[in-house]
Amino acid sequence: MFRPDHFPDLQQPHSRRTWLRRFALPGLALLASGPGQAFEWKVVQEEGRDYVRLEDIKTFYKFPRLQREGRNTWLRSNTLSIKVTSGAEDIFINNVKFCLSFPIAEVDGAVVVSRVDLAKLLDPIIRPTHIVNAQGFDTVVIDAGHGGHDSGAVGSYGAEKVYTLDTSLRLEARLKKLGYKTLLTRRSDVFLTLGERVALANRTPRSIFVSVHFNSSQSSSAIGLETFALAPQGTATTYDELKGSDMANRRGNARDSENIALATAVHANALYKLRSVDRGVKRARYSVISGIEKPGILVEGGFVSSASEGARIHRPDFRQSLAEAIAGGIGNFRRALLKRSPS
Ligand SMILES: [Zn+2]
Repeated sequence: MFRPDHFPDLQQPHSRRTWLRRFALPGLALLASGPGQAFEWKVVQEEGRDYVRLEDIKTFYKFPRLQREGRNTWLRSNTLSIKVTSGAEDIFINNVKFCLSFPIAEVDGAVVVSRVDLAKLLDPIIRPTHIVNAQGFDTVVIDAGHGGHDSGAVGSYGAEKVYTLDTSLRLEARLKKLGYKTLLTRRSDVFLTLGERVALANRTPRSIFVSVHFNSSQSSSAIGLETFALAPQGTATTYDELKGSDMANRRGNARDSENIALATAVHANALYKLRSVDRGVKRARYSVISGIEKPGILVEGGFVSSASEGARIHRPDFRQSLAEAIAGGIGNFRRALLKRSPS
């Protein structure tokens, strides 16, 4: 578990500019190092993609320990534990599950992580204080999913649209108490297009966007919490194969690092507070998180289709706890950004 009051940040000696040049700008050679740059990433190719060795990640981020047992490898520091499994499509950071853009591989006996997952997942989580051009925020745009003729998922206890609105109103009250400004995309049972939701966020200065949903599945045993951040350019979403349209840059990709850091902070805090089953931080290209120019995430707070979780979601005290946990995660994200040194 992430300790909810602690968003880890490992110190490292290399300049942010070096990092930016090597990872954040597409098309620039990873190994193009200038004078005085001590660290060289060894890039290996696997399935036509760039991968970097876990050993190099250990060195760059100064993890004291790397331990390998069979297909599992752990990178450990005093505050952080990263569990990597060869061939796996997910990774565990402080026991929280993250879905990777590309599976973990082994090349010449070395465990390797895709360059995209290093730049777009691991780095912003390991050291959120190094997020380049992160925007400060004092406003949270809360999007209550569905509404009006669009009920969303319907379980035996009630409709998703009712629970999303109630949770959003509770989240608003909590955030106001914590000193944030808030805006709701809807305050009653009305229908809004996805475009209207995005437009509201995009015209709200110094804001982040949190879309609140509940899940549904054909399988009555499906339960748990999942949080979505926009898939990076050129990667598949969690539930789909890679396709041509995935190569397009979306508006929201400008905020990739903040998106995943916000998703991590909210997801980890909600897991910790609610003791929900962890379905992972996942990747999607839903319109609401694709079109948004601000840091944005979509939270699926549980399954209305499950008898047990549906009953839990129906309870006002659970929705209050969920709202407080989301607010707490937002606070952790904000504190992590505030620790940044000026650019
Ligand atoms: Zn929904």
